[in-house]
Amino acid sequence: MAQPSIRRPAPVAPWQDPAAQPFLRIQNVTKTYGKVYACDDVSLDIYQGELFALLGGSGSGKSTLLRILAGLVKPDRGTVMIDGVDISNLPPYERPVNMMFQSYALFPHMTVEQNIAFGLKQDRLSAAEVRDRVAQMLELVRMPDLGKRKPDQLSGGQRQRVALARALAKQPKLLLLDEPLGALDRKLREHTQFELVNIQERVGTTFVMVTHDQEEAMTMASRLAVMNFGRIEQVSTPAGMYEYPASRFVAEFIGATNIFEGRIASQDEGEGTVRVYCDALGSEILARHADPIPVGTPVAVSVRPEKIDVHETRPEADNVAMGRVAEIAYLGDVSIYQVKTPAGAVIRVQETHIVRSSEPHYDWDDTLYLSWEAGSAVVLPT
Ligand code: ADP
Ligand code: MG
Repeated sequence: MAQPSIRRPAPVAPWQDPAAQPFLRIQNVTKTYGKVYACDDVSLDIYQGELFALLGGSGSGKSTLLRILAGLVKPDRGTVMIDGVDISNLPPYERPVNMMFQSYALFPHMTVEQNIAFGLKQDRLSAAEVRDRVAQMLELVRMPDLGKRKPDQLSGGQRQRVALARALAKQPKLLLLDEPLGALDRKLREHTQFELVNIQERVGTTFVMVTHDQEEAMTMASRLAVMNFGRIEQVSTPAGMYEYPASRFVAEFIGATNIFEGRIASQDEGEGTVRVYCDALGSEILARHADPIPVGTPVAVSVRPEKIDVHETRPEADNVAMGRVAEIAYLGDVSIYQVKTPAGAVIRVQETHIVRSSEPHYDWDDTLYLSWEAGSAVVLPT
C-alpha cells in the first residue's frame, strides 16, 4: 500500500542539484565483527535539513552505521565528514552530533527541566542561558507547563518528546535517532510521527533516523536508504523507492508487490518497452524498460497490487491475466483479492472502496480478468 508522506515536499531537492554540497558525507565505511560485515563499504551523502531514514530488517547494520556517525564505534575503514570536516578520528564528545537512544534513558530522579538542562550544565553554559534554552526546548516540544514533572508522571509520548528536547538542547548539527518511536504503541506512534516531523521542520536540524518500520520511514523521511546485510541497496525519496525500486529486494521490502519471474522475449527500444515471457502466467508481460537488455535475460517483473484493475469480462489492455478468486480480505477501506491463474500464479490485487456501496463485490471462485499498464510493470534483476 502506498504511504502518504506527512512531510512537505522540499522546495529544492539538494540531492538533485549537482552543485549542492552534502552536509554529511559517509565514504566507504566498513565495520566487521568477526566474519559479519555489519557495514559493508557504505557510502552515503546526506544534505542539510534532511530527515534521513536508515531502513532495514533486524541485523542489517543500521545501528552500527548510526554508532559510527556518533563516534561510538570505530569503523575498520572509511571516513565520515560533516560540513566538509573529517570527523572520523574525533571522539564522540567532540563531534557536532547528538544521539537519542531507543530507551530514551531519561534520568528518573530528575524533573523534565533538569533532564533537558543536564547536558547544558556540563557544557558550562550560564544559568540564564540554561534557563532560556530549556524554556525554548519545552516550547518546541509543546510541553511548556510540564517542566516540573518527573519522567514517571509523563505518558510514553511525552517522555519521547522530553528525550528529543534534551537531545536538541545542545543544538547539535546532526541528530541521530535509533528507533525513536519504538517504545510507543501503534496509535501514539502515528501521532508522534507527525510531531517529530513537525519539530524537525521547525528546527531545521539534520536528522538521521534508524527504523525497521517501512511505513514509518516512508511517511517521515525526506529520503531513505534501504540496508541489507550491511550494504545499502538503494537510496531514494519515499515515492522514488516505491515507484522505482532498483532491486527485487527493495520492491518486496517496501509495500506489497507481485513478482513475476521470466525471461526477456523481445525489446522495442523505440517504444521503450520489453516483453517478458512468464511461465507462471503462460504469457508475456509488456513492461516499460528503456535501457538495452539482451533477449533471454532472466528478470523479475514487479507489479503493485493497487496498479491492477479488475474486470468481469476480458478488457483491452497492455497486460491481461485471467484467474479465479482464491482469497478475499476485506479491510474496510480496501479489499485484497488473491487471484489464481490456470498456470498457478497467485496475483494479489487491491481494490479501493470509494463509496460505501462498493463493498467487495467479487466472490470466492469468481472468474476475473486482471489488467495493468506497461508503465506499472517494473523490470528488475532476479
Ligand atoms: P540493526 O540495527 O540493523 O538491527 P546492527 O547494526 O545492530 O543491526 O547489527 C548488524 C550486524 O552486526 C548483526 O549481525 C549484529 O549481530 C552484528 N553486531 C552488531 N554489534 C555487534 C557487536 N558489538 N559485537 C558483535 N556483533 C555485532
Ligand atoms: Mg538496531
